[in-house]
Amino acid sequence: MRPPRANGYRTAWAGDLRRENVGETPRVAGWVHRRRDHGGLIFIDLRDRSGLLQLVFHPESAPQAHEAAGRLRAEDVITVSGELVDREQGAVNPNIPTGEVELSVSELEILADAQTPPFEIAEEKGDVGEDTRLRYRYLDLRRTQMQRNIELRHRVAQAIRAYMNERDFLEIETPMLTRSTPEGARDFIVPSRLQPGSWYALPQSPQLFKELLMMSGFERYYQIVRCFRDEDLRADRQPEFTQLDVELSFVDEEDVYELVDGLMRDLLALVDIEIELPLERLTYDDVLLRYGSDRPDRRLGREIHDLGELFADSEFQVFRGALESGGVVRGFKTHGEFPRRRVDELTERAKRMGAKGLVWAEVEGDVWRSPIAKFLKPEEMQRVSSALGASEGDYIFIVADAPEIAARVLGDLRPAVADEPPTGTDLFWVVDFPMFDWNEDERRWDAMHHPFTAPSGDLDADPGSWRSRGYDIVMNGLEIGGGSIRINRPDVQQKVFDAIGLDAAEARERFGFLLEALEYGAPPLGGIAFGLDRIAALLAGQDSIREVIAFPKTASGAELLTGAPAPVDEIQLRELGLRAQKKS
Ligand code: ASP
Repeated sequence: MRPPRANGYRTAWAGDLRRENVGETPRVAGWVHRRRDHGGLIFIDLRDRSGLLQLVFHPESAPQAHEAAGRLRAEDVITVSGELVDREQGAVNPNIPTGEVELSVSELEILADAQTPPFEIAEEKGDVGEDTRLRYRYLDLRRTQMQRNIELRHRVAQAIRAYMNERDFLEIETPMLTRSTPEGARDFIVPSRLQPGSWYALPQSPQLFKELLMMSGFERYYQIVRCFRDEDLRADRQPEFTQLDVELSFVDEEDVYELVDGLMRDLLALVDIEIELPLERLTYDDVLLRYGSDRPDRRLGREIHDLGELFADSEFQVFRGALESGGVVRGFKTHGEFPRRRVDELTERAKRMGAKGLVWAEVEGDVWRSPIAKFLKPEEMQRVSSALGASEGDYIFIVADAPEIAARVLGDLRPAVADEPPTGTDLFWVVDFPMFDWNEDERRWDAMHHPFTAPSGDLDADPGSWRSRGYDIVMNGLEIGGGSIRINRPDVQQKVFDAIGLDAAEARERFGFLLEALEYGAPPLGGIAFGLDRIAALLAGQDSIREVIAFPKTASGAELLTGAPAPVDEIQLRELGLRAQKKS
C-alpha cells in the first residue's frame, strides 16, 4: 500500500515492512491477531489491512511495554513503535511477506480493549456457523479471507470502470425510487408519505431508464447498480444485489459480444486466468440438447446424445413407444461407482423431476449389465455404447420421454453422477433463444428475457415460433449475465405486449412513458447486465455470493446484524396511512 500519512498512530503499514526497512523505527497500529509467550519474550502478530507483522517484546530492554503486552488479548487495538530487526535464523516465516523481520517494540499504547470475540478471528477455518458470522459481521470481515474477498470485489469494480471508461461509456445513475420494471420477480415497494395510497417500486433493474438514456443520445451507458427482487428462497440469491448494467446505441449482437468478451478477459486476468477469445457461442437449442440446461457446466463432460435413430425400429417397447408418441431417447455415459442403492436414488430423483423412469447400464465387454439388456439386441447395445463413446466399466443413463422432460432430467443427472468437483474455467455465450415460454397456468406467453427484447422471425406467425435477440453468458454452470438487442419501434413493442396478453390500455398505464419515448425517434439499441456479486464470487473461488458481499442477508432475507426487517413505529405507519396486519 502507499505509505500512510505519518501520525501519532502509525508511520507505516505493518504488512508492508521488509528487510530493506531493517534499522528503521516505524510506528504501526492495528489489532492483536495472536499472542505467544515464549521463554520470557512475548510475540504478537499485529494485523492491519495490509497484513501481519510480528512484534517482539523484551523484558530487559523495554520492561514497561513487555509488562503491558503480557496483558494484551486477541483483538485489542494497539499502536507500537520500535526498531525493525532481522528475525533470527530459523525463526523466518516464509508464509507471510513480513516473515523475515520483526518489530522489537520499545513503546506500546493500548487504544481500545476487546472482549473475547464469539469466534477466533485468526482461525480462518474455525467451526463457526454462518448465522454467528453474520450476526457479528464486523468481526467476520476482519478475517483474512474476507478481507481478500472484499478487496477482490473492489478490484473487479475498478477493472470494469477502467474498461468501460476506456471505451467512452458514461456512468450514469438511475432512480432507486421508481416504478415497477418487469424482470419476472416481485417488487419491493415503498409507500409514499406525500401521496398516501401510492407506492414506489425499488428497481428490479434499470432496464427502462437505460433504454431512455439511449433515446436521449448518450450512446454508451454503464452503471454498477443495486437492484432489488423479492423472490422466494432460492439457493444463493440476495434480495438486493449488484449488477453491472450496460447499454449501447446503433449496435447489433456482435458489438455486445465483442465488448463483453474483452471485459471478461480483463476480469479473469485479475485472478490470472487466461481465456481464449472470441468466446464460444452455442444456441439455446443446442445446449438444451447436449447438456439439458440453458446454463450448463460443460466442465462436467457427460454430454447428452440423442439415441432416437438407434432405437427407431427397436423391439424394446419402452423406447419405441416413447419415440412413436413424439418423445425422445437420450442418454450420456459416465464413469464412477453405481451400486444398487445409488442407482435407486438416481431413479427416484429422475422420477421426482417428472421422468417415467431411468434406464441404467454398465458396459461389460460388448454388451451391458442392465435390467433392459434382455430386451435389446447385442448390436443395439454396441451401437449405443459407441455413439456415447462408452467403454468397459462405464455407466450409461438413458431417459425415454417428452423432449423437455428428457432434457431436464438428464441435465439434472449430469452433476448428480459426478463424484469429483469440476476444475478449470468454462465461459461461453448462449444465443438464439425462443422469444417466449408458454405459461400453462395463465394460458399465455411469457417473455423469456423481458418484453423489451427484440423478436426475430416472422412476426405475423404464431408467437411460439418467434426467436429472441437475447443472449446469456454462462460461466462454470452459472448464468453470470444476460441481455438483448431491444425493440426500438412502438409497433413492434405493441406486438410483443399483445403476445404476452398486455392490452394496449394496460401497456399505456404501465409503460406509457416508454411507448411515448419510442415515438420520438429511438436508435437501434442493445445491452446486457451482469451479476457482479456472482462474478466476484467465482473469481474469489467462493461458492456463495454472501462471501463477497460485506453485509449480506440470510437466505430468508434477514440481516442478522441490524435485525432487519423489523417492525416500525406506530407513528411512522400512521404518517404513511398504513396499518400493520399480522399475516394469518
Ligand atoms: N435488464 C436485464 C436484467 O436485469 C438485463 C438486460 O436486458 O440488459 O436481467
